[in-house]
Amino acid sequence: MTNKLKYFIGNWKMFGDFSDYKIIYKINQFSDRSKNILKEKKIVLCVPSTLIHYFKNKLTKKSIFLGVQNCHHHQKYGPFTGALSATMLKKAGAEFIILGHSENRFNGDTNNLLNKKISSSLNEKLKIIYCIGETLKEKRNKKTFHVLKQQINKCLKKSYNPNNILIAYEPVWSIGTNKIPKKIELEKAIKFIKNQTTKIFKRKKSPKVLYGGSVNDRNIRQFKSISLIDGFLIGGASHSPKKFIDIIKNYYK
Ligand code: PEP
Repeated sequence: MTNKLKYFIGNWKMFGDFSDYKIIYKINQFSDRSKNILKEKKIVLCVPSTLIHYFKNKLTKKSIFLGVQNCHHHQKYGPFTGALSATMLKKAGAEFIILGHSENRFNGDTNNLLNKKISSSLNEKLKIIYCIGETLKEKRNKKTFHVLKQQINKCLKKSYNPNNILIAYEPVWSIGTNKIPKKIELEKAIKFIKNQTTKIFKRKKSPKVLYGGSVNDRNIRQFKSISLIDGFLIGGASHSPKKFIDIIKNYYK
């Protein structure tokens, strides 16, 4: 079993209501009970913004972290109907925030906007989970490394503290498709991301780099041998406490 810190981060997307506190409760209990055996893990659940305050207040003996999934690029308050800022999300109880998810890039999140969202979120002392990854077309056209480089270099700045940044490598073609990259491809991509970010931060250490895309309780074993991966961003399977917990258990088995 590895003793390096690993992250298991759930992305609930646009699912969930107040009654789903039972999911949070079960995962928190698991996290608490297993803390002596599975020491080096951090569990984060990124839930809809409507639930964060409720979950945070209801959760006593908190052993997991709570996050949200996006914010407006303007940091504080302003005439932006329907939007939520990093300031508001932080005040509501968020500790982490997913930014740059491909579902949001499709809906208009450019590298330019993400640049502002990242800076706003870091200013609010939110830890960011910055998603990057190539589409199937880009992969077929051998553009993967070019895309990753752009997404990294346009949005991450030397002045940021890499300890507050997690990068989630999520090939767009693997999200919700049950397709995962070949081991060799994944190793190359993670290594590339770490090299690129080390250049930016001019420190030996790069931010943690996670993998995301169709991770489940069966295929998680395949990732165990890639020690460069610092954790996982889990979409569909994170809304079921059993599936999510089994992913973690099977990873350490
Ligand atoms: C995601 O949406 O970030 C994700 C990884 O989804 P899934 O696990 O369902 O592929």
